[in-house]
Formats: sequence, structure tokens, C-alpha cells
Amino acid sequence: MGDFFERIVDVEVSGEDAGALAERMVEWMVGEGLIIRELSGDGVYSLTVDEGYLPGPNWQRAVEDPGWEPGPVAVVVGREYHVGGQGEDTADSATCPRCDGRVVIIDYPESFEPDDEAWRPFRDAIAGWKETGEGSAACPACGAQVPVTAWQFGSGFDLGALAFDFWGWPPLGTGFQAEFARQLGHRTEVQEGKF
Ligand SMILES: [Zn+2]
Repeated sequence: MGDFFERIVDVEVSGEDAGALAERMVEWMVGEGLIIRELSGDGVYSLTVDEGYLPGPNWQRAVEDPGWEPGPVAVVVGREYHVGGQGEDTADSATCPRCDGRVVIIDYPESFEPDDEAWRPFRDAIAGWKETGEGSAACPACGAQVPVTAWQFGSGFDLGALAFDFWGWPPLGTGFQAEFARQLGHRTEVQEGKF
């Protein structure tokens, strides 16, 4: 338990609003009995957070099939890129929302390594966004400067200022995922991965 996660990323909340929204969501989950206020710090739960809220008496409500006991829920606040899978550091592709042009970053199955030159504009834009809340990368196909948060990255790579890592939980139910997004009031992406 504890070395795999399901992650819900809020891909719309601003860095400024993320802290207050995180607190509201924790309150909601505690109220629903999904977690308790008590934190467990006996492990590394994400790149930036090393403690999480212990499961509450009603945790079963969040999952499809309560086959095993879940671990803590870590809350990650702050503009960050989130990777699922085994934790590659780049997206495998980026698609321009203006022209649908697709930039290949990792050219499967020819290569399993990111193309540094293709990734660099995104890496720089993400660094700028993390720092200031804004960053954009030019589309090589149509030339538009597109905010990095508007690029559509391949699955398992998402930008967001708020994420929830459910460590070791059985698969989260689709109804719960939808309710979670409603509570956030924003669009979400769901990832899973190992640490
Ligand atoms: Zn374009």
C-alpha cells in the first residue's frame, strides 16, 4: 500500500485561489467521512507533500469496489506539472488548441526519450507559469503564442495549482469523480501512477 496513486488535478483553479479551495475540499471530504483531520507522515506521498489525511469511516463511498484498505490523501497546493505513469518528466505530445497541430515530444515506439529541442519551449513556458502564473509556447505549425495551460498535453501530464493524491486507494468510482469535480467547480483530469 502507498506506492501507487490516483490523482485528481484541478486544471482551472488559479494559484491564488488554490489554498482556500484546498481547505474547502478537505472540509467537504471530512464532512462526508471520506478522510479524517489526522495526518499521516509515514511516507513520501508526492514530489512536494510528505503527509496525507487518513481515510475516514465512509471511504468506501468513493470507490468502485472496496477490495482493500486505502492509504492517506495528500493535497498538493501550488502551480505544478503533474505526471502520472512512472513519473516521466515531460509530456509525450502537445496539441495546439488553435490549429490542432501536434508536437511530438516522445516519438514512440522509435524512441522512449523526449526530444529536448521539441520540449524546451514547453519546459520554459511551464517554468514561467510556475513562477508568475503566465507562460506561453509558440506553435510550430500556426505560429500562435499559446498559453501553456491551453496546450493539450498527452495523457498523464497536466498542469494545475491543486491536486489530490489518493494513495493506495481502490479505483475511485466515476460518480465520486464527478461529484469531486462539482465540488471543485472546475474541470479536472484524473491520473494514476506509481511512485
Ligand atoms: Zn497551432
